[in-house]
Amino acid sequence: MPTQQYKHIIIGAGLSGLVTAYQLQKKGEQDFLILEGRDRIGGRILTNESIDLGATWFQSHHETLSNLIDELGIQKFQQYNTGKSIFIYSSMAPAQYFENDPNTPSAYRIGGGSTALIKRLASHSLKQIKLNQQVNSIDYNNEFITIKTAQATFQCDKVIMALPPQLMSGITFSPEVPTLLYEAMINTHTWMSNAIKVGFNYRSPFWRDKNLSGTIIGHVSPVIELYDHSNIEDNSYSLMGFMNEGLRDDTTDDRKERILSYLEKHFGSEVRNYTSYHEKDWSLDPFTSFDKLKSVYISPRYGNPIFQQDHFNKRIILSGAETSSSHGGYMDGAVISGIRAAGI
Ligand SMILES: Cc1cc2nc3c(=O)[nH]c(=O)nc-3n(C[C@H](O)[C@H](O)[C@H](O)COP(=O)(O)OP(=O)(O)OC[C@H]3O[C@@H](n4cnc5c(N)ncnc54)[C@H](O)[C@@H]3O)c2cc1C
Repeated sequence: MPTQQYKHIIIGAGLSGLVTAYQLQKKGEQDFLILEGRDRIGGRILTNESIDLGATWFQSHHETLSNLIDELGIQKFQQYNTGKSIFIYSSMAPAQYFENDPNTPSAYRIGGGSTALIKRLASHSLKQIKLNQQVNSIDYNNEFITIKTAQATFQCDKVIMALPPQLMSGITFSPEVPTLLYEAMINTHTWMSNAIKVGFNYRSPFWRDKNLSGTIIGHVSPVIELYDHSNIEDNSYSLMGFMNEGLRDDTTDDRKERILSYLEKHFGSEVRNYTSYHEKDWSLDPFTSFDKLKSVYISPRYGNPIFQQDHFNKRIILSGAETSSSHGGYMDGAVISGIRAAGI
């Protein structure tokens, strides 16, 4: 098959890569291609039957993301938190109830689920995205940079690497990347790659009728955090949160039962009347998770300055949420890095 040539190739159709494509288009640049390893776009943003299995919340200080959401005409709304929330601090102790301070702004969510942002961004570049194209090697010995996937070979002037640094380190570069850069890649934990999300859909928000917000927090519990995850229209009702990683090696049925019996104790027997159940263990997904480390015990640090330095004559640009010096790891960091990459 003949080699396909482009001015820019973006590796990764997650938030960061799609933002770069959107910015290039805003500048009138159409000569680009996005190579995505998965059979879907969005990366760590994934909404299934209105449950956000990846990223969900942002705060008012995430201004770049918030401005982009406004620019794209997407709605945002506050996390529901009316009523009593529950805190379990020990498996022996009774539940503690607390009310959220109405004067403290809660986190925001994206109307239509976080995937709405991905869909809106990608609507501008659908024809320029190639799915199922896992990049295995990048060769920058010659005039053109050569990128190989299992299926095809591509050439370009510039590459934007919009994927987690640990996954960048799994790509074969020729010549090899400098040792310091390789070490920075391999040592940068992929934010949330160890998380297990869980969600239930319901016909009605039965917890609200009991003056419960749907929030339940407890690090010794089968779900460590759970929240009301009903939609912006308030006509589809859900609970969504983070499963305890201690349940990772259980069967799906076993962990679902442990979660349900725990929630039944605090929310009532209605929790069992769910219409659909969803879970996703990101540590098992090779397009997010890199190493065998299932948990991260130290707070990860992002935005290593080496990622922003001029590499390979500015022809290979390192992007993605973890490379951002501001709000690294978060959606906001992904957007900031995506905008930066398009401007180089
Ligand atoms: C469970 C979970 C909860 C989260 N919650 C929040 C939250 O509430 N708020 C928040 O701000 N952030 C949250 N995040 C983080 C947020 O999802 C990320 O900051 C953001 O989505 C990262 O975007 P990205 O484009 O940089 O990377 P990614 O989304 O990881 O995109 C990288 C893309 O590259 C692709 N790829 C990987 N390797 C290759 C290869 N070799 N060849 C081709 N393609 C490849 C991947 O398939 C992927 O599509 C959460 C993440 C998870 C997993």
